[in-house]
Amino acid sequence: MHTQPVTTRLADDETLERRDPIVPPDAEVIITIDGPAGTGKSTVARTLARRLGLDFLDTGAMYRAAAAIMLDRDIPLDEPGELVSTVIGADLHFDFSADPPTMLAWDAPIDHRIRDEDVTAVVSQVAAIGELRRHMVRKQQVIAAQHPRLVSEGRDQGSVVFPDADLKFYLDADPAVRAARRTEQLRAEGHDVDEADMLRRIIERDRIDSTRADGPLTCADDAVRVDTSDLCVDEVIDRLEEVVRQRVASLVRAQD
Ligand code: C5P
Repeated sequence: MHTQPVTTRLADDETLERRDPIVPPDAEVIITIDGPAGTGKSTVARTLARRLGLDFLDTGAMYRAAAAIMLDRDIPLDEPGELVSTVIGADLHFDFSADPPTMLAWDAPIDHRIRDEDVTAVVSQVAAIGELRRHMVRKQQVIAAQHPRLVSEGRDQGSVVFPDADLKFYLDADPAVRAARRTEQLRAEGHDVDEADMLRRIIERDRIDSTRADGPLTCADDAVRVDTSDLCVDEVIDRLEEVVRQRVASLVRAQD
């Protein structure tokens, strides 16, 4: 962890943390959260970032944006060169003034598209393209250089993108629990979802994500592993926050 003056960004409802900052406002800190789909990772990462006054990076949104671009521009999956050059041209980036940050392609928001079912169905295959991953990894490292107080969430953040992160988490949960959560979430949004089908799709996405050659889904050796199967989202966030509290104190002490 390095220290330098940085403005702390907090939502209005988190002003308590401003009075008692767990992460000193002048500290640069990278926290990674990896794990498979349906562990509550995004909500946990976003809320933890807000509580700690850090920025939040949703790297899945970047791969989803690439998949949406492929579909909407009719780029065949077996033409990775064309896809990568189009994605480079799109200059994927986030507007960090929004919470959660807005994903932009060609300077236009693409958030409305990236969670669609057809995007979810192909994103793991798109994310397995090595050349695309190398581009995304570089972009994520540039984002971290510009936002050095960051909670970064994905599949390879602790293992490949930020191997020297100050603190790494790996969230896991039983696939059946993850499928039930996703089904409930989508039904609440008005979608018609079959839970058994959801379980099959989650297992298939895990398989592709964890067996690809580049940046596979994996738990870094030095990551704190949390099984969220029996925990609600708030319990997971509280647990992670407690680990941050303990670790940050020792990191700051180590610098003195
Ligand atoms: O986290 P989310 O479900 O939005 O991620 C969508 C997909 O993007 C994942 O299934 C995975 O294939 C890919 N991904 C990845 N590496 C990351 C983040 C996401 O391969 N760091």
